[in-house]
Amino acid sequence: MRALLISDIHANLEALEAVLAAAPAHDVVWNLGDVVGYGANPNEVIDETRRLGSVFVRGNHDRVCSGLAGIEEFNPVAQRAARWTECVLTGEHREWLRHMAVGPIAPDGPFVRCVHGSPSDEDEYVLTVRDAWPALDATDARITFFGHTHIQGGFATNGDEWFRLAPQYAMHRNGHGGSHKEAEEFEFEIHEGARYLLNPGSVGQPRDGDWRAAFALYDDAQRTMTWYRVPYDVQEAQERILQAGLPDRLAARLRDGR
Ligand code: ZN
Repeated sequence: MRALLISDIHANLEALEAVLAAAPAHDVVWNLGDVVGYGANPNEVIDETRRLGSVFVRGNHDRVCSGLAGIEEFNPVAQRAARWTECVLTGEHREWLRHMAVGPIAPDGPFVRCVHGSPSDEDEYVLTVRDAWPALDATDARITFFGHTHIQGGFATNGDEWFRLAPQYAMHRNGHGGSHKEAEEFEFEIHEGARYLLNPGSVGQPRDGDWRAAFALYDDAQRTMTWYRVPYDVQEAQERILQAGLPDRLAARLRDGR
């Protein structure tokens, strides 16, 4: 079984379309939440992602933009984006967001879980090994797929030691710096006996210094996780954000990948 993992699309239609055009053959799509918020095309992105499958975990922006939680937990820029999103969402899309499953969910048997933040809290950022330890302690799943941080990579433990995982792309290895004009992939072998927290990265608003849209493919027969980065039409996504009257910062950060 090959699962396409997508997360944190954040209403960025250009990034989502580039990801779907580049995605390798897969049997299912697992979506780790934050379908909306920040970007200019929440309705179009919901339509497109719903066509792909039915496995979704709710993210914090999905919760706030559909009115399930108060806006005060967000910073001022995120608040403006959430208010705008709530205004433009169709009634049907708002209802759909309100009924998204709260993680953890088990989309394929006992070994795998999907969450937005961490197994114990959909709002928790798992950014360091120190965060990963209690997060893995809170689940008996062998592999937990998570999003929320917008950072591609993850964490692993063999019971004694802990490891931080990050895809090694040629651009970085060769020291070419941040042009990132081409698509790249990095395959990683999943070891028997180890446990993992794995993040496909953010489709629509990466924050790991690489502006390219991020996603991943999990293959349970091959025991691999492959991380991908694909370029997309950032300028178009930025123009749509500005035309919508959303904060400039939300457009600018797409080019920086921060
Ligand atoms: Zn997010």
